[in-house]
Amino acid sequence: MPNRIYVIQERCTGCTACAKVCPVTCIDMVERPADDKAKGVKWPRLAVIDEIKCIFCGACVDTCNTLGEKAKKPDIFRAIVMEKETVAPTTPILDPALFKGVWCYAEVRHGKLMSTAFELLNIGRKLAGDLKEDLSAVLIGHNVSASAQDLIEHGADKVYVLDDPMFAQFVDEAYAAALTDLIKREKPNKFLLPASTIGRSFGSRVAISANTGITADATELAIDPQTGTLDATRPSFGGNLMATILCEKHRPEMATVRPMSFPRSDRQPGRQGKVIPVTFDASQWKIREKFVEFVAEKSETQDIASAETIVSGGRGLGKPEGFKLIEEFAKLLGGAVGASRAVVDAGWIPYRHQIGLTGRTVRPKLYIACGISGAIQHLAGMSSSEFIVAINKDPQAPMMQLANLAVEGDLCEILPLVIEEIKKLKG
Ligand SMILES: Cc1cc2nc3c(=O)[nH]c(=O)nc-3n(C[C@H](O)[C@H](O)[C@H](O)COP(=O)(O)OP(=O)(O)OC[C@H]3O[C@@H](n4cnc5c(N)ncnc54)[C@H](O)[C@@H]3O)c2cc1C
Repeated sequence: MPNRIYVIQERCTGCTACAKVCPVTCIDMVERPADDKAKGVKWPRLAVIDEIKCIFCGACVDTCNTLGEKAKKPDIFRAIVMEKETVAPTTPILDPALFKGVWCYAEVRHGKLMSTAFELLNIGRKLAGDLKEDLSAVLIGHNVSASAQDLIEHGADKVYVLDDPMFAQFVDEAYAAALTDLIKREKPNKFLLPASTIGRSFGSRVAISANTGITADATELAIDPQTGTLDATRPSFGGNLMATILCEKHRPEMATVRPMSFPRSDRQPGRQGKVIPVTFDASQWKIREKFVEFVAEKSETQDIASAETIVSGGRGLGKPEGFKLIEEFAKLLGGAVGASRAVVDAGWIPYRHQIGLTGRTVRPKLYIACGISGAIQHLAGMSSSEFIVAINKDPQAPMMQLANLAVEGDLCEILPLVIEEIKKLKG
């Protein structure tokens, strides 16, 4: 039976207490139907719950029940009924001590090792150090073995390599089957993947097949010193809450990690480690998916994730056309276009450009913020940039305080002049 939640109309006073505690604002107050009034119910309004939006947290039920306990009359409040689906518990692991080591998935895309591998090795090294366990990387692809030494020089003690023509292109089911097979045999303690499209896609399949849990899109990771479990923290409810998610009874504890949340590990040339070739018997697994074709997205502008220079625009641009200046500026510098959430919400520029807590995290060498105030949620996505330039009318704006170079003035006057100068320099 699926989850259900409903309001017993005769008991609801329309007091709004339930709506006030709902974290996902799924409760509205509406006019009572006329026949309720005819039945003598005197309260003019009534709570209705949007079951699609509801996350069945029970906050509204508790609030209404508490009011019921305090009420003098027995026939009001206690008006919300929640019936939760009972899920059969999955078998917990027998002995967590059998699971050892921190593992990172080193993503290869179109034959190229992604830099997220080095970010995961960096945070993975810290977690492995806290646990006093080894750090390993997993490489899956075709002709990828040469990247193993690169991973060792960036901190991996061991690299498991699945190098086979079958893995030449990413196929969700095949990659998930191979990784699950390896995890079941080798029993790692923690497993990190990048929260990229690929990592998110097959990480969840692996977690299900390996009978464990996964935290998606973590931005902070730590080991609990008492229990040795992984504290995986991620923004929730649109960034209003930071939730720390635990997977106490199953191993490996898995997490996908938001790209750029951690710096890359440094290379230690000549570092020694163990390369372990792994074979995979696909006949034991049901793999129905096939790779057909890769079609690259056509985009005029560079992606912010890999850009060394980002020129970002905010509400200070005044109107959507303001982005023409930002685009021109970014193009001249060979950079990408970023944006604050205010302008994305206003529909001036697509979401993929948004930087911040509920957008993307970036670490460019140069970040130029034009007409962006520097709200904490924006800074969360770019404050690790190497050099920050802010152009703003308000010298007190937080972005101006954070910037290495703060330019006070009207961007509508400053940007065209700067663009002109760069054009002159470029000839
Ligand atoms: C849960 C949650 C999550 C959020 N996530 C994000 C996120 O991921 N990313 C994000 O960016 N925001 C996010 N926000 C929104 C954030 O709080 C701010 O509202 C937003 O960043 C403001 O955008 P802005 O700086 O463009 O606009 P404003 O705050 O309005 O700032 C505009 C700036 O432009 C300057 N200005 C105006 N005119 C000119 C001019 N002619 N020349 C020069 N300067 C000028 C002003 O002085 C001002 O500093 C989130 C908010 C919440 C509650």
